[in-house]
Amino acid sequence: MIHSSWIEINKTALRKNIRYLQKRLGNGVKFASVIKGNAYGHGIKEFVPLAEENGIDFFVVFDTNEALRAEAVKKPDTQLLIMGMINDEELGWVIEKGISFFVFDLDRLQKAAMLARQQKTRARIHLELETGLHRTGIEEAELDAALAIMRSNSRYLELEGVCTHLAGAESITNYMRIQEQMRVFEKLTGILKKRRFSPKYRHIACSAAALIYPQSIMDMARIGIAQYGYWPSMETKMNNLLSDENKFTRDPLQRILSWKSRVMSIKKVPAGSFVSYGNSFMTTKETKIATIPIGYFHGYRRSLSNTGHVLIHGSKANVIGAVNMNVFQVNVSHIPGVQKGDEVVIIGTQGKSSITVAGFSELSNQVNYEFLTRLPETIPRIVKENKQEINGVQL
Ligand SMILES: *Cc1c(COP(=O)(O)O)cnc(C)c1O
Repeated sequence: MIHSSWIEINKTALRKNIRYLQKRLGNGVKFASVIKGNAYGHGIKEFVPLAEENGIDFFVVFDTNEALRAEAVKKPDTQLLIMGMINDEELGWVIEKGISFFVFDLDRLQKAAMLARQQKTRARIHLELETGLHRTGIEEAELDAALAIMRSNSRYLELEGVCTHLAGAESITNYMRIQEQMRVFEKLTGILKKRRFSPKYRHIACSAAALIYPQSIMDMARIGIAQYGYWPSMETKMNNLLSDENKFTRDPLQRILSWKSRVMSIKKVPAGSFVSYGNSFMTTKETKIATIPIGYFHGYRRSLSNTGHVLIHGSKANVIGAVNMNVFQVNVSHIPGVQKGDEVVIIGTQGKSSITVAGFSELSNQVNYEFLTRLPETIPRIVKENKQEINGVQL
């Protein structure tokens, strides 16, 4: 191990998450696994084959770069879909590889038609419709023009999907907006149907929508955060908990990621000493301090100075002083026998204790998305079959 920390991916937990989610989606609904942001920090390279082992054959990425990385490790028949950025110079490659992509403006539709015609092939298109997110999407007023282009290039453009994205399905605050988006989507797909366009997949659901609004599931759901073992929000979790007849004797979603390191050095500091840079922490008695070889360079935020915690020997140890670029320090005075080289859990379970991603910095689940995707790609990802990771008590 030449790295100062490592990330473990729990194969067993992933299998359970995918099974549970596929059951919730229903038979025949395509599970489109969203792996943007380096598979939410889990590593595209490691995650794709693991998901494939569990029957996933459709992955969704943000841009060409991620598609390229998934392309390098996926099975030949596994399908990719790009939702966002494709430079014009790359569109030819995307079409040639048979990669599906969102079309959210007429410009991309025309270019796709032209390139597919040159290549004498068919581009696989998912028409993204504007329904109220106001980010990207074909407006109702542009729909006629889009369908005309589709019609006159029907040999070169395959309408594989029609879709939209909801404006925050994980929060009840957005309830009215989401309902309106679903109404608009029905209306626009109604127009498509009347013109005899019949896409294979109609899809609008992300994790939260699939878990809260079953009517949003349609032919496919784009599942990101939930497959990695996180509820998109506490509301989503509560809503499902209350409707589950077993009241979750066990949470059906299990975090698949752990982040671990080892104690780099131990030091005893007398009472009345400042620890680390500056004077944000002063010992009030003799204190045993462990230095952990992780810092903000590795994605351990400076805002965790004096507030974060880790697990050592199954006990909680608080961060004291400032998080530095490559190290931070924790108080281990209350944990007997801590030595250099002992395992440190930053996220995950040790003994009977766990540190979750949300509990890690702020009490917000939204932080899951940002924290995970900020985990540097250079930290090695190690796949583990690990059954006992699962039952930890949350600290
Ligand atoms: C990220 C993303 C998803 C997946 O969202 P989760 O909340 O992680 O399930 C689905 N659709 C689009 C367009 C996205 O950008």
